[in-house]
Amino acid sequence: MIQLYIPLNFLGVIYREIKQALADIEKMFILLDRQREVADAADARELAVSGAAVRFDNVHFAYDPERPILHGVSFEIPAGKKVAVVGPSGSGKSTLARLLYRFYDVGAGCISIDGQDIRTVTQASLRKSIGIVPQDTVLFNDTVAYNIAYGRPGASPSEVEAAAKAAHIHGFIAATPKGYDTMVGERGLKLSGGEKQRVAIARTLLKNPPLLIFDEATSALDSTNERAIQAELEAAGQDKTVLVIAHRLSTVVDAHEILVLEQGHIVERGRHDALLARGGRYADMWRLQQSAG
Ligand code: ATP
Repeated sequence: MIQLYIPLNFLGVIYREIKQALADIEKMFILLDRQREVADAADARELAVSGAAVRFDNVHFAYDPERPILHGVSFEIPAGKKVAVVGPSGSGKSTLARLLYRFYDVGAGCISIDGQDIRTVTQASLRKSIGIVPQDTVLFNDTVAYNIAYGRPGASPSEVEAAAKAAHIHGFIAATPKGYDTMVGERGLKLSGGEKQRVAIARTLLKNPPLLIFDEATSALDSTNERAIQAELEAAGQDKTVLVIAHRLSTVVDAHEILVLEQGHIVERGRHDALLARGGRYADMWRLQQSAG
C-alpha cells in the first residue's frame, strides 16, 4: 500500500504545482489582455515629467457602452499636492485611478500630466512615472526580495532592504528563517492584508515615481495597522503628486482638495473644513464615520 501511496502523493504534489503554474499563466494573460485595451499611438513620445501635475478635463467613461460610469469629471492635482476622492461603493473612484494609469482610454474628455494628453505618450513612460498602491496587492510566487525589487528591477539588496525598512516591513521579513529569500504568495508564506500592502508600499518607495495613486483597502485593517500604514503612505507621498481613493476620511483631512463622487458625478468638492461647514454629503459621511468609531 505504501508503495502505491508515495507515487500517488507525489502525483498530487505535481498536480498542484501544474495547477498553480496554469493559474499564474492565466493571471499573466489577464494582464496582457488589459494591456491590449489601449495601444501606443504610432508617434507616441516619452512622457516628460516636470512636477507631475494631473488634469482630468470633462472625462466620460463606460466599461460597457450601455452603462456609463463617469459623466464629465474635471479636477486638477497641482504638482506635489494631494487630491482625495471619496464616495459610495461603485461610484467610480477606482475607475479614475485605472484611467490615469491608462488601463483604459477615456470615452470623451482628456487626462493630461504636465500638459501632455496621456494618449499621446508611451505607456512605458507613463507607467514608469506612476506608483500604485492598490486595494489588493497581488504578490508573485517568488521571494520577498523579488516582490519588492519588482518596483525597480536591478535594485541592489541594500536598496530593497532600505525600502522595506521605510515601509515598516523589514522587521517582519528579518524574523522569518530565510529573510528576504522567503517565498511568498500562494505557494509560500501567506501575508496578511496589511503586510501585503506594506510590500506594495516598499515596492513603490523603491520605484520612487513623481506621481502616486493610493487605492485604500475597503476591508478594514485593525486600527493600529491602519494608522501605521497611513503614516507610511504619508511619508511615501511627501513632495509627490498624490491621488488618494479614500475609504476612511481620516486620510483626507489634509488634502488640497476632496472630491465627493456619486454615480460618476462630482457632487461636492473642497477642503475638509469647508466641506464640513457646508453640512452636505461629506459632512454626513464624516459624522457617520466618527460615530462608527
Ligand atoms: P469601491 O469603493 O467599492 O471600491 P468604486 O467607487 O471604486 O467602488 P469602481 O471600482 O470605480 O467603484 O466601479 C464603478 C462601477 O464600474 C461599478 O458599478 C462597477 O461594477 C463597474 N466596473 C468596475 N470595473 C468594471 C469592469 N472591469 N467591467 C465592467 N464594469 C466595471
